[in-house]
Amino acid sequence: MPPRYDPAQISPRALRQRIESLQAAGITQLPKPSAAGETPPQDVAIPEVVAPEVNAVQPTPSPTPLPEVGVAPSLEVLQQQVAGCTACGEPASTRTQTVFGVGNPEARLCFMGEAPGADEDRLGEPFVGRAGQLLNKIIEACGMRRDEVYILNVLKCRPPGNRNPAPDESRNCRGFLERQLELINPEFICCLGAVAAQNFLQTETPIGRLRGTVHQHAGRQVVCTYHPAYLLRNPSAKKATWEDMQLLLREMGLDVPGSENS
Ligand code: URA
Ligand code: URA
Repeated sequence: MPPRYDPAQISPRALRQRIESLQAAGITQLPKPSAAGETPPQDVAIPEVVAPEVNAVQPTPSPTPLPEVGVAPSLEVLQQQVAGCTACGEPASTRTQTVFGVGNPEARLCFMGEAPGADEDRLGEPFVGRAGQLLNKIIEACGMRRDEVYILNVLKCRPPGNRNPAPDESRNCRGFLERQLELINPEFICCLGAVAAQNFLQTETPIGRLRGTVHQHAGRQVVCTYHPAYLLRNPSAKKATWEDMQLLLREMGLDVPGSENS
C-alpha cells in the first residue's frame, strides 16, 4: 500500500510543494483521509504520485542487492543460479544467455577470460570465436586438449557492445566466480588479458608487468598472459605468451614441448 500523508505532520512549505506536484501531475482531488489507525479500503488508496517524499534531499539509492543464492553444492546448481541471475540490469536484459564455463570440472588448470563476446553469447560457451580458436592452438601447443582444462570468464554475461565489465558488474559476478573455482578447485589459473588478470587479482598493475611471474591467490598459482584477441592484433606478443605458457608448464611439473628436457 502506498504511504498516506497526514497534513498535520508536514510543514506548510512541504504541503504546498506536494499540492503543486500533485497539480503538475494533473491531480485536483484527493480522497478524504480515514480516521487515524483505520485501514482505508483499497479503492481510496492515494495514487502512487503522492508517495514520493517531498524532501529536497533524496536518499542515496542502495546498491542492487546481490542475488539471494545459497551456496551451490555443485557446478550444475551454480550454473542454474547464474542462468537466473538478473543482478546487472543491462547485461542481464541484453544477453542471449549466460555463459558459465566449459571443460573438465576436475581440471588442474583453468583459463580465465574477461567476459563473453558476441559468439559466446550466441553459443553459450566461452572462447568459441576467433580468439577461442587461437586459445585452442595455445592449449594444444602446451600438449593439452581443450576438454582437459576448464575455461571460464570473470563475467558470465556479455557486456553490450563488448565494453569492459563495469566495477559493479564484476562485484555482482564475483561470488559466482569464486564458488565456481572452489568447486573445480584448480591448482593453476591462467588469466588471459589485462581485464581478467587485474579483475581477478584485484590490482591495477599493467598486464606487461603481471605476466612472466607466478602469483599466489587464495592458495592457487596464477600465471597471467596476453589475451588471445590481443595476440591476433599484435602477433609479435605471441613470443611472450609462449614464455608464459612454458613457465606455467614448468610450475605444473609438465614437459615443455620443444624444450631440451621434453
Ligand atoms: N574473450 C573473452 O575474454 N572471453 C570469451 O569467452 C571470449 C572472448
Ligand atoms: N591489453 C589488454 O587489455 N589485454 C592484453 O592482453 C594486452 C593488452
